[in-house]
Amino acid sequence: MTNNHVETREFQTEIRQLLDIVINSLYTDRDIFLRELISNAADATEKLRYLKLSGNEVNDPDLPLEIFINTDETANTLTISDNGIGMTKEELIENLGTIAHSGSKEFIRHLAEARKEGSSGIDLSLIGQFGVGFYSAFMVAERVTLYTRSYTPGAESWIWTSDGSGNYSIEKSEETRRGTRIVLSLKEDAKSYGKGEDIKRIIKQYSSFVPYPVNVNGEKANTVEAIWTKNTSQISDQEYTDFYKYIANAFEEPFYRLHFSSDAPLSIKALLFVPGENYERFGFSRMERGVNLFCKKVLIQEKSEAIVPEWMRFVRGVIDSEELPLNISRETLQDNALVSKLNKVVTGRFLKFLDEQAKDDPAKYKEFWEKFGNFIKEGAATDFVHKDALVKLLRFESNQSGQGEVISLESYVERMKEDQKAIYYISGSSREVIESGPYLEIFRDKGIEVLYSYETVDDYILDNLHEFKGKKIVAAEQDSEDLPEADLRQGEDEEIPLEEQKPFLDWFKETLGTKVTEVRSSKRLVDSPAVVLSSYGTHSMQKMMQLMNKDFGNVPAGILEVNTRSPIIKGINELRKANDPFAAAAAQQVLETAQIAAGLILDPRSMVNRLYSILERAVTTK
Ligand code: ADP
Ligand code: MG
Repeated sequence: MTNNHVETREFQTEIRQLLDIVINSLYTDRDIFLRELISNAADATEKLRYLKLSGNEVNDPDLPLEIFINTDETANTLTISDNGIGMTKEELIENLGTIAHSGSKEFIRHLAEARKEGSSGIDLSLIGQFGVGFYSAFMVAERVTLYTRSYTPGAESWIWTSDGSGNYSIEKSEETRRGTRIVLSLKEDAKSYGKGEDIKRIIKQYSSFVPYPVNVNGEKANTVEAIWTKNTSQISDQEYTDFYKYIANAFEEPFYRLHFSSDAPLSIKALLFVPGENYERFGFSRMERGVNLFCKKVLIQEKSEAIVPEWMRFVRGVIDSEELPLNISRETLQDNALVSKLNKVVTGRFLKFLDEQAKDDPAKYKEFWEKFGNFIKEGAATDFVHKDALVKLLRFESNQSGQGEVISLESYVERMKEDQKAIYYISGSSREVIESGPYLEIFRDKGIEVLYSYETVDDYILDNLHEFKGKKIVAAEQDSEDLPEADLRQGEDEEIPLEEQKPFLDWFKETLGTKVTEVRSSKRLVDSPAVVLSSYGTHSMQKMMQLMNKDFGNVPAGILEVNTRSPIIKGINELRKANDPFAAAAAQQVLETAQIAAGLILDPRSMVNRLYSILERAVTTK
C-alpha cells in the first residue's frame, strides 16, 4: 500500500549556509545538540499540555507527557521521541526549512564570518538562542529522519528527512501516534552518542530541570526536580541543599538561600544561593556567573550574564520567568529589555534579602561580609542602578569598634555626635598603621568616630559617595572645612607666638618650594609635629597612582600643616631666627616624614644624607 510520493525541497539559503557550517566546522562543544532537541521536545509537550488544559480536542489524549530517548549501538542511532503537538506538512516546511526571524539570519552571518576568520573552533552553543537549535542535530548526525503527527484531529503523519546537504524530503508515513520522533544516524566520529551512559551524562548537565520525565532506554534520567517552582513549604532543607550542591558543583552547604516568587511587576520564580565559600578570595580565578535562566523550567541560558550583574557572580541559582516567550531565543538576551527588567527586579530583591539578613542575624551577616564583602564593594563601586542598596550593606571597622568588629554607615550616622559635621574616614593598610598615624589624633581627642578604610576600593566608594543620609563624607587626610578642630588648651605647652607665626610659615613654604602648595598652622594636631593634607582624594589613591605610573619621585604636592605647639616645630623656628642653615634641613625632613606617615612612596635616596646630618647633630654631645 505504499504509493508514497516523496517530495524533495530545498532549504532556504540561510539554512543551507548554516548547515554548511554545522556540518563542516570544528566545534567547541557538540553535546549541546541534545539540549536543543530535548528542549524542542519539551516545548512541543508544553504546548500540548497547554492546548489540553485550555480545552482543545487532541489526538491520543491519554499519551503520557514524557520524552523518550533510545540509543542503538548496533544501528548507530539515537532516537528522541515526544508526545507533543507534532507538525502538519505545512508546519514541517515552515519550521524546518525556512527562517522567519532576522535574528537567526544575523546569527548565521556572524557564524559565517567567524569561520572565514579561521576561528579554530566554532561555538555553536548559542544556536538555540537564535531559533535554529534544531539544525545542531547535524553536528552529530549524517542523516536526520523525523516522524511526526500533529495533535489536530484527523491529521496525517509525515516523514521528514535530510542529510543536511541542501535538500530535505517529505513523504507520508503510516504512523498513527501523535508527536514527533527524531532518529539521528550518527556520524562515524559521533558514535559515543549511541551510548546510553553518555546521553545520561549530557542530560544531567543540560536538561536536568526539564519539567517532563526524560527516559533514556526506559530509565528516567532527569531525577532532579524543578524545585524552584514548588512552594517553599513543600521543600525540605535537605532538598534545597542537594539542589544547591548539584547546580553549584559544590560539596559544602550553601551560606544563604533565597527562594521567592513574584507576580508583579514581573512573574518570576527564583532560587538563589550564596555559596558556602568564596574561592575567589583565596586567589582562585575569577568566578563565572552562576545563575541559570529558565523559562517554564526549560533552560534558556546557563550561567547567564544577562540575568545578574557582574558583581553578583558569586551567586548560584535559577531564575525562571514564564514571561520570557519561548522565542526569547531569537534575540540576544543581553539586549533584551525584558531580561534586563528581570535582572533589575532580581538584583533588587537579593539586596533586600541581604539587608534583612544583616538585621535579623548580624553575626551571620558579619561572616558573610568577611567572605563575600569584596563583591558588595565591587558592586557599590560599579553598579549605579543599585548603589544605594549596596552602600547600606557595606561594613567598616572604626576607632570605636573593636578589632574585627564592623559597623554600617547607617549605625555610624545613628551614633554621630550632635554637633558632628560629617562622616569621617581614614585610610591605611591596617588598624595599626591608621592608629599610629597623625590623622586620628583630633578624632581620638574629641571622641569622634572614624571609619577605617583598608582598601583602595573603600576609599573609592566613600570618596564617590560624597554623602550618606544627608551627611557629608570626609576623608581625615583631605583638606576640608568640615574636619573637627582641636580646642585650645589653657596653660599647656605654649605655641609659637602669634606675631612670629606668619614669618615662620612663609619661610617654611619658601624652603619647601614646589613640594607643597601651602604651609599653615594646624588646628587639628595634638601630638604630632606635622601632617600633610591632600587637596583631592586620599593618600592611598595617590599612592595607587604612583604605583601605576611607577613614578615614585613624584609625590603630589599637598598642604603641610604644622603643629605650632610641637617642640620640634618650635625648635625649627628658633633655628630660623638664629639663621642656622640646619633649620632648612629639619623643615625638609618634617615634610618627608609627614609624607611617609601619609603612606606616600618617597624616593629614599635623597633623604639618606640629610638623615645622617640630622643624626650627627643629635649624637654630638659637646
Ligand atoms: P526554536 O526551538 O527556537 O523555535 P528550532 O530550530 O529548535 O528553533 O526549532 C524550529 C521549530 O521546529 C520549532 O519552533 C518548532 O515549531 C519545530 N519543532 C522542532 N522540534 C519539534 C518537536 N519535537 N515537536 C514539534 N515541533 C518541533
Ligand atoms: Mg529549539
